[in-house]
Amino acid sequence: MEIKFLGGAREVGRSAILVSYRDTRLLLDYGVMLNDHPHFPLTVEPKKLNGILLTHSHLDHSGSIPLLYVSHRPKLYATSMTRQTTTLLVNDFLKVSGYYLPFERPEVEAMLRSCIEVNYREPFMIRDVEVEFIDAGHIPGSAQILIKGDKTLIYTGDFTTIRSKMLEGADTGFGDVDGVVIESTYALEEHKPRQELEKQFVNACREVVEGGGRVLVPAFSVGRAQEILCILVSHGFKPPIWLDGMARKTLEHYLSDRRFVDGYDILERASRKVRIVNGRKSREAALSEPGVIITPAGMLKGGPALHYAPHIVSDPSSAVFLVSFQIPGTPGEILLNKRILKADGLEREAVCRVEQFRFSGHAGRAELHNYLRLVENDALVFTVHGEERSCETLSAWASSELSLKANAPKNGESYKV
Ligand SMILES: [Zn+2]
Repeated sequence: MEIKFLGGAREVGRSAILVSYRDTRLLLDYGVMLNDHPHFPLTVEPKKLNGILLTHSHLDHSGSIPLLYVSHRPKLYATSMTRQTTTLLVNDFLKVSGYYLPFERPEVEAMLRSCIEVNYREPFMIRDVEVEFIDAGHIPGSAQILIKGDKTLIYTGDFTTIRSKMLEGADTGFGDVDGVVIESTYALEEHKPRQELEKQFVNACREVVEGGGRVLVPAFSVGRAQEILCILVSHGFKPPIWLDGMARKTLEHYLSDRRFVDGYDILERASRKVRIVNGRKSREAALSEPGVIITPAGMLKGGPALHYAPHIVSDPSSAVFLVSFQIPGTPGEILLNKRILKADGLEREAVCRVEQFRFSGHAGRAELHNYLRLVENDALVFTVHGEERSCETLSAWASSELSLKANAPKNGESYKV
């Protein structure tokens, strides 16, 4: 079995891996890197692909897939939840991209029509290769992918073994493997214990609201926004909670299929409590009283968050609580570190509270180490989806501590497993 890294090696974004065995060629993810302009993975010939296996809908894993449908129709394999949320994210990407994209709506539609829905733990064959999707615990519908030819390979995609309100965490019963491709996003960082972080966040929201303020929580529309809603409701937070933007549609998808949400009852309860923003009047209502407003984009790069933010930052009793890592240079990071809101071509000084609560859907250092401890010690390990130092550090740890044959590959490199 041969494995080639087409993107996402020593970088976070545009994940893409080509696996070849005999006459079968499978592409695992084909994402996009969204910096100042989109970066795509190395090219691959769509007509030679026997299947594209998508771990989850986030654009850094899915955003380049429509490129492969310009003149061909390779089969796409994904869970039904990933198919639905990918539809939302890729269409939004087309709509809001200020740059030329090398695909349009017909390619997106062709991609969706070519999608075969797969269930967790139901192996299937693609020519010479057996494929199995295993729950990754990252967002509802996310999967790790197990591939069996002459050798067995597991690709984690984005995963976490930490339990959240909506998800139990990754299924790690993947058995003996000869190779592991593991994400390394947080290889250098331990996560704060989840319960403690949740309490701090809910208490901070309470403080602001009791002081008469409003809390703006910019959050990714797929996964994080719904998780934050569940955290507030399950901690008995009573004041109004508003949900805006694409996070609303994602909530509907999550509610429509309980197979993908372990904490379905909490989500269901939260959905009855939340106030859905539907138009200008309810946006005004959300701003008119103390409460929490959850809305994309997570790093304030667009979305309805930019409608609320100017009102919030100019009010000393209100707050912006960021609930994920903020990429340097994004409006969220600039607001956090410089207390300046950049929106609509204007710069405003923030007089409100601005804080960060680092919730994560990724494994932290300890979880990554524990995952690798499950692997036989003659297995090959490839560390990807992390900054260069993160990939190298995790690879070096696996070699020295576990005697695994570990590499931090570069884009364009191929390896035999
Ligand atoms: Zn992800």
